[in-house]
Amino acid sequence: MLLPALFATAHTIELQPIPQAGGAPAVVGGGLTQGFTKPPKRQHSITVSIPTRADGIKLPPISGPKDPARPLIVIDPGHGGHDPGAVNTAKGYSEKDITLALAKALRDRLTKDGRLRVALTRDDDRYLVLQERSDIARRMGADLFISLHADAAESDAAHGATIYTLSETASDREAARLAARENKADILNGINLGEQSGSVSSILIDLSQRESMAHSTDFAKLLYREAAPYVRFRPTYHRFASLVVLKSPDTPSVLFEAGYITSATDAAKLGSAAGRDKIAQGVAKAIEVYFAKQMARN
Ligand code: ZN
Repeated sequence: MLLPALFATAHTIELQPIPQAGGAPAVVGGGLTQGFTKPPKRQHSITVSIPTRADGIKLPPISGPKDPARPLIVIDPGHGGHDPGAVNTAKGYSEKDITLALAKALRDRLTKDGRLRVALTRDDDRYLVLQERSDIARRMGADLFISLHADAAESDAAHGATIYTLSETASDREAARLAARENKADILNGINLGEQSGSVSSILIDLSQRESMAHSTDFAKLLYREAAPYVRFRPTYHRFASLVVLKSPDTPSVLFEAGYITSATDAAKLGSAAGRDKIAQGVAKAIEVYFAKQMARN
């Protein structure tokens, strides 16, 4: 197995056994608690490889026409590598595999007629820090960034697709919960891999970001309108959340939760090539209309 290049640097992390008061775990309210009073007796040292920061990451190849004037869409298959995302254990599905397969289906749809250029942030099973994903789009000068995901819920009754765009204030509790879950991809064993001098959390919404956000919202509306014949959406199909992967100040960006991996009907669609192609067809239509409208405006 080849390790991706970004796993090149090894860092040593000191692990300490969890000190437990009195040498045995105390049982409180049916659960285990851990004491923090006693100093650790032993120290274990292990070496793990964690990704280095994004700046030098190699940009992916572009599919489609060579003409740099053609719109460039960067598709981001969510999760990957050690981060499977949501899983459906009964079916053996992982979000990371579904998003990658869906991204490839969408790329094939979009490049079919030779008018649009497409790049994937990853085209294999590798892990990327959230900010690397939007950085790739920015550095490539993408005209649109779409991060693909699949949702999960405790109940298998929850189904349907949702489009998320950036807002520092979540539109509802569910959007806040989703942001917490998706943003957590950067946290491996308590180490925040995406942390960068506080600039992500305190990002300023400047004028260019406002414009990008307006474009993102336009695209979200189009995505619903054009993809609805192909994709089953949730009643509240457009939500706002503070998602790290959408925080590019100058690239219109959406996060598309293509359906619930935990729903039997959605999983059947997401898990089959024909089902994914149908979703890709709807999303591709929306992208084509979005750029046709932009060209008509200019
Ligand atoms: Zn996800």
